Amino acid sequence: MENPGRIPPYPIDRNPLFTTPPMTLSDSTEDLARLCVFCGSSAGEDPRYLDAATELGVALARREIGLVYGGSRMGLMGRLAQAVLDEGGEVVGVIPRALMNREVAHPNLADLVVTESMHERKAEMAARSDGFIAAPGGLGTLEEFFEVLTWSQLGFHRKPCGVLNVDGYYEPLVALLDRALQEGFLQDAHRRMVLVESEPAPLLDRMVRYEAPRVPQWIGQGET
Ligand code: AMP
Repeated sequence: MENPGRIPPYPIDRNPLFTTPPMTLSDSTEDLARLCVFCGSSAGEDPRYLDAATELGVALARREIGLVYGGSRMGLMGRLAQAVLDEGGEVVGVIPRALMNREVAHPNLADLVVTESMHERKAEMAARSDGFIAAPGGLGTLEEFFEVLTWSQLGFHRKPCGVLNVDGYYEPLVALLDRALQEGFLQDAHRRMVLVESEPAPLLDRMVRYEAPRVPQWIGQGET
C-alpha cells in the first residue's frame, strides 16, 4: 500500500469544522493574571512532590498570579492551594457538585465555583485561566492537561501549556511526545506547544514569553 507520508492531520479545505483563525486572541501572554494547575488529588509516594506543590504555590503567589484549580483539599491539589493562600495569593477552586458532596472541597477557599458536571468544570477552569500547568498527578491530571493541549492544537485558544517535570516525573511523557513527532503523529508546531521545565521559576518565565504558533481554528467555543 502507498505510504501517504507526512500529510497534515487536518486538511483545511475538507474539514467541515474549519472556521477562520481566531483574530481576537492576542499572540502575547505577558499578562498571566491566573494560571490553572492540574495536579494529583493524591500526594504521591515521595515527599518531594508535596514540596514541589508548595514551591509552585509560593512562586505563583509571589508573582501575583492567581491559581485556578480543582478545588480539592486532597493531595498535591490541597497542598498547592494552601501554599498560595499562605502567601496571600488568590485561589479559585472549581469543583463539581458530586465531589463537593463527598466533602473533598478545600475548606479555606473564598472563591469556590460549583459546577454541575466534570465537563462544565473543565470549561469553567479553562475560561478563567490565562495558561495551564500540569504538575505531577495521575489520570485526572493527564486527561485535563491533554484536553487543553488539544484545544490549543485546534486553535481554540492561544494560552501557554506547561509541564512541571518534578524530578523527571514526566520524562516518559516527554519521550512519548517526541516519539509521536518522530513517527508523524504530531506536528512540530504542536510539539512546541508543550513547555517543559523541572522548576517553577523557569517554567513561569517561559509561559510569560510564550507565543502560540499560528494554527487554523477548527472549531468554535460552542463546539467543544
Ligand atoms: P488525578 O491526577 O487522577 O489525581 O486527578 C487530579 C485532577 O482531576 C485534578 O486536576 C482535578 O481537577 C481532578 N480531580 C480528581 N480527583 C479529584 C478530587 N477528589 N477532588 C477534586 N478534583 C479532583
